[in-house]
Amino acid sequence: MNNSIAAETIALPKLSTLLWRGFRQKCPRCGETRLFASFLKTPESCGTCHHELGAIRADDFPPYLTMFIVGHIIVPMILIVEKSSPMSISMNLKIWLPLTAVLTFWFLPRIKGLIVGLMMHIGLRGDETQ
Ligand SMILES: [Zn+2]
Repeated sequence: MNNSIAAETIALPKLSTLLWRGFRQKCPRCGETRLFASFLKTPESCGTCHHELGAIRADDFPPYLTMFIVGHIIVPMILIVEKSSPMSISMNLKIWLPLTAVLTFWFLPRIKGLIVGLMMHIGLRGDETQ
């Protein structure tokens, strides 16, 4: 408890640092500890700076942003390939579905880390009421 109170009184780094550390899947505040205990699960607190990471709930924003980014990468590629050399549906599925999955699993934790850094900067925890 004293550690979390002490952690709250320490100034946060600038926004770009918070975002970059989150994107690298490190604690946005100290940049030392891994941000996720498992694929997308944040630990209750940072092992180094003791900032309460588990209380920050990004909810659905990281998946929405990931879909937006991956969609803007995959769809133009599909259109370019389809225009230059049309393929069968099964060949399209064999190429684009795995590529979409790989990009999604690569971007999702990084985007979530970025959003956690953004929420930390704004002071949101995800449990605000309207
Ligand atoms: Zn930390």
